[in-house]
This record gives sequence, C-alpha cells and structure tokens, in this order.
Amino acid sequence: MELYPPSPTSSSSPRSPSPHQQQPSSPPRIRRLEASVVNRIAAGEVIQRPSAAVKELVENSLDAASTSVSVSVKDGGLKLLLVSDDGHGIRYEDLPILCERHTTSKLSTYEDLQTIKSMGFRGEALASMTYVGHVTVTTITEGQLHGYRVSYRDGVMEHEPKPCAAVKGTQIMVENLFYNMAARRKTLQNCNDDYPKIVDLISRFSVHHMNVNFSCRKYGSNRADVHTVGGTSRLDTIRTVYGASVARDLMEISVSDDNPARSIFKMEGFISNSNYVAKKTTMILFINDRLVDCTALKRAVELVYSATLPKASKPFIYMSINLPSEHVDVNIHPTKREVSLLDQDSLIDTIQNAVEAKLMSSNRTQLQKVPVNQMVRTDSRNPFGRLHSYWKDEAQSSKQEKKSDLVSMRSVVVARRNWKENTDFTSIDQLLREIDSNVHRGLLDIVKDCTYVGLADEVFALLQYNTYLYLVNVVNVSKELMYQQVLCRFSKFNAIQLSEPAPLRDLLLMALKDEELETRGDETETDDDLKEKIAQMNIELLKEKEDMLEDYFGIKMEDGCLIRLPVILDQYVPDMDRIPEFLLSLANDIDWDDERECFQTISAVLANFYAIHPPILPNPSGDGIRFYKKNREEAGLDSEILAEKSVEEEVDEELVAEAETAWSQREWNIQHVLFPSMRLFLKPPKCMATDGTFVQVASLEKLYRVFERC
Ligand code: ADP
Ligand code: MG
Repeated sequence: MELYPPSPTSSSSPRSPSPHQQQPSSPPRIRRLEASVVNRIAAGEVIQRPSAAVKELVENSLDAASTSVSVSVKDGGLKLLLVSDDGHGIRYEDLPILCERHTTSKLSTYEDLQTIKSMGFRGEALASMTYVGHVTVTTITEGQLHGYRVSYRDGVMEHEPKPCAAVKGTQIMVENLFYNMAARRKTLQNCNDDYPKIVDLISRFSVHHMNVNFSCRKYGSNRADVHTVGGTSRLDTIRTVYGASVARDLMEISVSDDNPARSIFKMEGFISNSNYVAKKTTMILFINDRLVDCTALKRAVELVYSATLPKASKPFIYMSINLPSEHVDVNIHPTKREVSLLDQDSLIDTIQNAVEAKLMSSNRTQLQKVPVNQMVRTDSRNPFGRLHSYWKDEAQSSKQEKKSDLVSMRSVVVARRNWKENTDFTSIDQLLREIDSNVHRGLLDIVKDCTYVGLADEVFALLQYNTYLYLVNVVNVSKELMYQQVLCRFSKFNAIQLSEPAPLRDLLLMALKDEELETRGDETETDDDLKEKIAQMNIELLKEKEDMLEDYFGIKMEDGCLIRLPVILDQYVPDMDRIPEFLLSLANDIDWDDERECFQTISAVLANFYAIHPPILPNPSGDGIRFYKKNREEAGLDSEILAEKSVEEEVDEELVAEAETAWSQREWNIQHVLFPSMRLFLKPPKCMATDGTFVQVASLEKLYRVFERC
C-alpha cells in the first residue's frame, strides 16, 4: 500500500519537527496505545467492511448447526445488519463473555487448530463488531421457556441480559457499523454500497450448503434477493441463484489424489463449458467447507480456459475441495479468507489437468473460435489505451457480437508438408537455402535441446540448456520462426477464417490514425481527406495483388474486405489488434517488382504480424495496474481516507480482465506453441548470437559452487 506524501500546504502547520528535517532533535517518545485504540485497530482489520461482518455472522450460524439463515441489510450494512438463525443458541451463562476478545467455544489448545472443522476458532469476530458497531444478541437454547436479549459495546455487556420472547436460535443485530471510524465510514459511503457483495456472499454459501435455507433481503423489503430452499440438488440451487443460463452451461467435475508423496485431496464441483460467456471469473471455492480464496488456483484454472477457449470468456467455477485438515493452514489471514495448503502446487496441477481434460473432451467436436469482437483497437481518444470493437455503431456491434457466436472462425490443424517436394519457385528455394546456410550451429543445439523455464519479463523468457541458463528474446525468436514458416508453407497455407469480413478501409484509416498519433509533434496533422485518399490508394494496390496474396500467402481479400488469414503455426492465431498495422505495411512496405524481394518482404510483414509481441494493453499485474485506475476525483478525500486499508482500488475491472486474458494467453502461447515449434523448426541465424536475442545469464555449475561455499 502506498502512502501519499503530505501536500506542500499542510507542511506549513506548526508541528514538532519530523525526523527528516535538518534540525537536530531528540527522538520522539514511544508510548503504549490505549487498549481501546488497540482493539479498535484490530477490529477494523477483522471486520473490514459490512460484507465481512456478514460472513462472520453467517459462519457462526452455520457452526451452530442451523438449517435456516436469513440476512437483512439496511444502508449497505452501515445502518443495520441482522442475521437470524435456528441453530443451538447461546447459553445464558456464556453471554457475559460472548463478545470479549478471544472467547470461543470452538478451540481450546493451539493443537486444536490442526483439526478444526468449524469456521470460527479465534473468538474475534463478535468482539470486533462490538468495537466498531453496536451489537445486540437475542438467543434461546433448547428447553428454555424464554430467550435473552443483551447489547454489547467495546467487548462488554451494556446491561444484564433481559428475558424476552424468542424463536429457536440466535439473532444478531449490528447497528451503525464503523460509527467511530469516520474515515472508513466515509469511504464506504463514497463507494458503491456493500449490499451486492452481501448478496454475492449469501449466493455462494447457498450453493455449497445445500441443506440450509438461505435468504437475503434489504431491510423492510418483502422481496428476498437470494432465497434458496435446502434439500434440492446443487445444480438446481445454482439455477435458482445464478440463473438458468449459467446452470445450462455447466459440467460436473471431480478429481482426487491419494498419493501421499504428492497431495491428498478430493475435489468435486461444476465448471462452465465453452458456450458460457462472461467477462469476469466467478469462482466459488470451499476448502473443507470453508468459503475461501485461493488466488493461485483461480489463476491456474483461468489459464486453462484462456488457453483452451480462444473466445476469451472467463469461467464459472464451483469447487469443493476436501483434504486432511492438518494440511490446511487456516490461520494465515486475519479474516481467514486466504488459506495456504500443503503440497499446493501439486494439488493445483492435478486440478488444472482435470479441468483441461474436461474442457477438451467437451470441446472436441466444436471448432476453435475467435469471435470477431476480439478484433479490437486502441482508441485514440483514451490515452490509457482503452480498447473498443472497431464497429462504430454500438447497437450494430452488439448484434455482430451475437452473430459471431454462430459464425465461427476456424483454424484447422494442418498436416505439415515438406516444402521441398512441392515448390517450383526458385526464389523461395533460394530464400530457404539462405536460411540453411546462415544457421548458427551452437544456437541450433541450444534451441533443439532446451527446457523452457519461464518468463523473465515482457520480452525475455528463460531457458535452460545443459547447465546453462539463457535469456531469449521472445519477440525476435517468434518473428524469425514465423518468417521461416511462411517460406516453408508458401502457397500451401491452411486458413483462419474471420467470422465477419473486415473492411479494409476502416482498418487502414485506423492504422493511419495510429501512425499519426505516434509521430505527432514533429509533423502537421494529415487531414482526413488525405487519409481517405491514402487508404483508397492502398486498397486499390491490394486489390491488384489480391490473387497473388491469396494463392501464395493465404491472405484472402474480397470486395474491399479481409476474409482469411494463413495458419503459420498450427493452433496459433495472431493478435487481431495488429491487423490494421499489418495491412498498412502490406500496402506500403513491399517491393513488388522483384519476385524474390517481393516474397521476402511479404513474409517479413506477415512474420511481424504473427510474432508474439507483448499485448497492446499493459500488463495489469504489478506496476501496470496504474493504467487501469479510474480517474476518480480524489482531491476531496483527505490522506487518512486514502491510506485506509479497506478502500477499494477503483480500477476498470472489465479492461483488467481483458488484459489478464491477453497476457495469460500469450504466456500459454509462448510455452505451448512457440517453444515446441521452435525446438522442431527454428534455424537460428548467426546474428542472433550477437544481437541480444540469446544471452547466457548463468552457468549452473558456477552457481552451485557459490552455494556450496555458503
Ligand atoms: P469464533 O466463531 O471464532 O468462536 P466469534 O466471535 O465469531 O468467534 O463467536 C464467539 C462464540 O459465540 C462462538 O464460539 C460461539 O460459541 C458463539 N456464537 C456466536 N454466534 C453464534 C450463533 N449464531 N449461534 C450460536 N452460538 C454463537
Ligand atoms: Mg465466528
């Protein structure tokens, strides 16, 4: 979390000199914080927002063996949260200490943690709520004639429990949450309220706890936003909560592992098939019946989807994983939300393989699709690189989006043919011979026999060859590989069919605008008429070469539209964002007069288009996330608010999701398409040994020797 530097004006206020100031001063005194302050800080961490309070309350109800849990919410939970259950209730004698910190009925020794089956164990949730809100508990235990009601503040009862009429179970009411944390309250009020998050939470619980009736509503409303009846099937519950369109596209999945050397677990669940379309992943994950997040697992599953289904849809996943409780560390996160697992990597691997196998088998009969709405372009009006479909008309574009589901784009696996037997173009022979005679033997050995280690950054991948580690420039290598493959496949390309003909004029104009953006400043702006003229000239030229481009290079144009592209590497579709730039090069960078030059330059232009460049959207992981921050008016908020932990990072989530898909798909392509093909086909030219394409970074022997000395 970043801290914001104080504004220049605030430093003028008279204060004791800070340690950074020149003037020598004695160190500031260290003081013990008052218990109430400590408790409030801790409470703010456990209960970060209203939905977090609801999660704790519902988990308590489930721990109390309830069969019915209902939630009411007023003002996003800031005014009122009410959770009622029909569980075993709370004993009268326990009420005085119920809301003290570290009072629990679920754990007594540290060792109990290892076998904990309940969802609570720290005795912190209720106590925390009393430090940041007003808590009132009404409860009755079995066999009692009446119940008790008592209110709490700062961990203690405000009065003796009062007898009252009560129905079976417990009702916990939290009022005025964060009344004493002005900044938190203000930020939460500024953000969208938490009610949708609460609905989402209850939806998740209801899918997993099929035998419990759940309901969630706004206070005073007679319509529940989630309402499930226990005892139905899981798929029925999903249908009730998430809708028929989701349930329809789900497949049941299960996998288990009982090899103690790897991992021991059992997973059951549902995953979406290739018809399911969503911009965001829904992952409902329960580990040992506890609702948790496991980012590594989520990413692993998303990766399978983005790699297997080029449609760039995010999955819907419900998974329930059970493993020996001593293999789960539930205690790594203050809200118990993230867990860490023993043998996590191998468990994730097994699940990833199962998901992949399931998807592949369900997908086998379907064609590989790339919807035309993936053909997107940088919007010149938005400096952050906002992408949009190149159809101007919104309504039209959504129509086309639908249609593109039906009219699919096809990329067929080709049987590789031997070019030497078929070509009769001496210039192609020549170019291929040139490649052969220019091979760097040492690099060829490396390429044929290397192991992919991983990506080092956006451009370099790490590979191991014998005891050496090398950095290899993915863009250069893929460009060369594509170039060589274009020549090898010359005149025998399989086709990637675009689902909709793509108008050359629009694409060329787009490329011209982009080019202008890049060079703006030193040239005067080309006016639109001129751009239009250039585009028309380019179209005419391309039309003249249409037949040749189709016959020899598999680039099919018709009626001023691009229709088909060649398959250069099997299973690989180039980044459609680069089509405009590609067409502009095709019309301007080719030497059409000399056959050899012509074929070489076209191959090079294609190779540049198909090379694995970094996606146009910046990588949202790490530093790149700042490109996606929405321009919020932060001027009005004071630094205390900005430093608040619970403030949601306001990012354009749709765009981030899009970028994440692009980046993960690229990584998959590098590992599973580029490297295997490179081992088989690439003939690295001599220049790659010196131009920084391959760089030896370490010899493992030397590294081992260093370690031995340590
Ligand atoms: P934890 O769940 O970690 O034990 P909490 O602060 O959430 O800590 O709850 C403290 C104790 O209060 C629980 O251990 C449980 O005994 C009791 N309790 C809380 N909510 C309920 C409920 N809805 N029904 C029965 N007992 C409850
Ligand atoms: Mg609890």
